Amino acid sequence: MRLDLATLSVVTVFVTMLVGSLLVFSWFQNRSVAALKWWGCSMIVAALGVFLMIGRGVLPGWVTIGLGNAVVFAAFGLSWAGFRIFERRAVLVVVVVAGPLLWLAACGIPAFYKSFELRVLLASLISGSYALASAFELWRGRAEKLGSRYPLAVIFAGHALMVLSRYPTLDHWGGATEQTVFTAPWVTMHAFEAMVFTVASSFLLLGMTKERVEAEQRLIAARDPLTGARNRRAFMTEGRDLLDRLRRDGQPCSLQLLDLDHFKRINDRHGHGAGDQVLRTFCAAASRILPGDALFARLGGEEFGCLLPLADEAQAREAAEALRTAFANYRFEADGQPFGATVSIGIATSDDVGHILDALLAAADLSLYSAKGSGRNRVVSLAETPVPLAA
Ligand code: GH3
Ligand code: MG
Ligand code: MG
Repeated sequence: MRLDLATLSVVTVFVTMLVGSLLVFSWFQNRSVAALKWWGCSMIVAALGVFLMIGRGVLPGWVTIGLGNAVVFAAFGLSWAGFRIFERRAVLVVVVVAGPLLWLAACGIPAFYKSFELRVLLASLISGSYALASAFELWRGRAEKLGSRYPLAVIFAGHALMVLSRYPTLDHWGGATEQTVFTAPWVTMHAFEAMVFTVASSFLLLGMTKERVEAEQRLIAARDPLTGARNRRAFMTEGRDLLDRLRRDGQPCSLQLLDLDHFKRINDRHGHGAGDQVLRTFCAAASRILPGDALFARLGGEEFGCLLPLADEAQAREAAEALRTAFANYRFEADGQPFGATVSIGIATSDDVGHILDALLAAADLSLYSAKGSGRNRVVSLAETPVPLAA
């Protein structure tokens, strides 16, 4: 079977226009990822460029060769800009317009314009560079774990290699000249690859966008909006997973249950806003002072939980004391009135009750009760609590 370039090109125009419009439509539905709009527009612009290019023989040469290619390069620039925006980097307009302007300027030089080979060389360098730069942006942002990132980077790098191979293989692979450009298998093969690239990349771009939105929603669902700390649901899920892992590895874990002292009084005396500020300050202190691998969460109201993997009772106590003293030394102010706040912390360990989150919470609650009963602003572990476990 022989692929017909004219048919292929018309199909490419329609397919590219369609997927571009669908990407813009997706952006309309969820505008949180602006890159989608850029990628969609880039495809629509690419379709216009290819449309101009296939007018060869009907439209003047400066439109099909000059303008047509310039518009396609602008599409590649827009696509690259989409990746920059997706990765939260600045878009350099000069880079977006450099390709098209370079092409138009070169076409103004008669020696260049008349040379089919030179045009293939510059065209492949421009579009190959944009595709490589796009792949680079994807690779650079790999700290954000999105499954579609890697196939997309491979597709863009692969497309860049295909495009860059045009000039070196010009003489060896079916060849093409100004006259045979419509029938050369070489050109048809590249047009086919470009269409496959368009379809595959648009699927993956949409998939990658959805992955990010879902990850952000998962994060929001797991966070307490006031303090930014994990919420109870996330703590219970992550905590159980962590404890299962530590139990399998035969490693200890400690739980701190932290409750601010006389918090109702702080609210009553200084207002709810001041109470909120105390909660935020406490969480900020906890994230600064507690170990990096601690699983800290706001369990509700002014009560917090913290799982410390690998920590025995002494280490959990040391971390708790550091947080307790730092917090007690804070000075708050509301309506010109200074005030302080304190926290009571109960500790239980996996050595006490095993790697079971509910049992750890119940045991740490006994310790906390004991800390409250013995004067507040202190750390009490289960071993020290006078309340028997069975109570
Ligand atoms: P104790 O030392 O025994 O723990 O006494 P407490 O006053 O801290 O405990 P209590 O449970 O009596 O009061 C908790 C208060 O926390 C009551 C509630 O209004 C307040 N609270 C719960 N959530 C928030 C919040 O998001 N912001 C503010 N400002 N207050 C809150
Ligand atoms: Mg309290
Ligand atoms: Mg409480």
